[in-house]
Amino acid sequence: MPEPHYAIELTPPDIEPYRSGNTGIDYATTFDSGIAGPHVLVTALTHGNEICGAIALDRLFRAKLRPRHGKLTLAFDNIAAYGNFDPHVPTTSRFVDEDFNRLWSPATLDGPRQSIELTRARALRPIVDAADFLLDIHSMQYATAPLMLAGTLDRSVALARRVGIPELIMCDAGHASGPRMRDYDGFGDPTSLKTALLIESGQHWERRAAEIATDVMLRFLVVLGTLTEADAAPLAGPHFHSRPRQRIIQVTEAVTITGDRFEFVENFRGLEVLPKKGALIGRDDGREVRTPYDDCILIMPSRRLAKGQTAVRLGRYVD
Ligand SMILES: [Zn+2]
Repeated sequence: MPEPHYAIELTPPDIEPYRSGNTGIDYATTFDSGIAGPHVLVTALTHGNEICGAIALDRLFRAKLRPRHGKLTLAFDNIAAYGNFDPHVPTTSRFVDEDFNRLWSPATLDGPRQSIELTRARALRPIVDAADFLLDIHSMQYATAPLMLAGTLDRSVALARRVGIPELIMCDAGHASGPRMRDYDGFGDPTSLKTALLIESGQHWERRAAEIATDVMLRFLVVLGTLTEADAAPLAGPHFHSRPRQRIIQVTEAVTITGDRFEFVENFRGLEVLPKKGALIGRDDGREVRTPYDDCILIMPSRRLAKGQTAVRLGRYVD
C-alpha cells in the first residue's frame, strides 16, 4: 500500500520542563493530595509519535490542577522515540528498538534482554506497580472513530462506561507479540481491583485526537474523583459533555502475520463491517485470510505488516 500523505495538525509540545519531575524517574511526576484515595496514573507517548497524549498531559500540567484525593501521577513513556519525532517522516518515531507496549510481562521485564524501550519500561515499572487506575493515551494510523480499549475484564468495561466517551468500547486480549502496559499484572488479573483503560484518540496527527485525548483524560479523572467537574471545565473540549450511546466491540481474534509477505485485498482503514462470513480480507504468503463470521468488524488494520505482528483484529458488536 502506498504511504498516505499525513497532515500534521498537532505540534509536539516541549516536555523538557517535566523531565526532572519529583519521583526520581525522568518524566514522571506524582501529585499527592495527602488525603486517602486511589493512585491514578495517566501516561502518554507509549508510542513516540502519538503526540495527542503529550498535548493532553501538557495542558493538565499547565493548568496546575491537583488531585482532590489520592494521588495523581503523570508520565511520558517512550521519550527517546518522541525525541526523534520528525513531522516530515512522522511514522518512524513509534519506537527506537522495539514496541514499548509489548514488553509488559514479568518474564520480559525481569529477563536479560536489553533495549532502549526495556530500559524505560523497567524504570517506569514501580509507577505502574503503584497505580490503582491507569489511562494510557494513544492514537491510530487511520482517521477512524476513537476507540476505548478495555481489555477483557468487566470492571474495565464498567469504567469505560462511566467515563462515557468515546462511543466505541473494544474488549480485546492484546497482541501475540507481547502484553501491553494496560494488561500488565493486576490490570489484567480478574482477582485484582487495579483497572486500566487505553484510549485510541483518533488519527495520530489530527487536531481532533488531542481534543478526544484531553476530554477522555478529564472525564477519567472526574469519575475517579481525582478532579471535580469544576476543576476540569476550563480545560474541557467539545466532547467533554457528550453522552453517546456506547457500543461494545468484542474482539474475537487477532490476525497475526506468519509469512514474509502479508497484503490486504483492499485499502481497509478500520471499523469496516464485512457482512458475509468467508469474505476475503488479505493474503499471508498467499494463504487466504477470511472473515470467520457474518458482520465481522475489522479493527485497526496495520501498515506495519511484518511477521509476528498483528495485521488486523476481528470483532463484532455485542451491545
Ligand atoms: Zn499507540
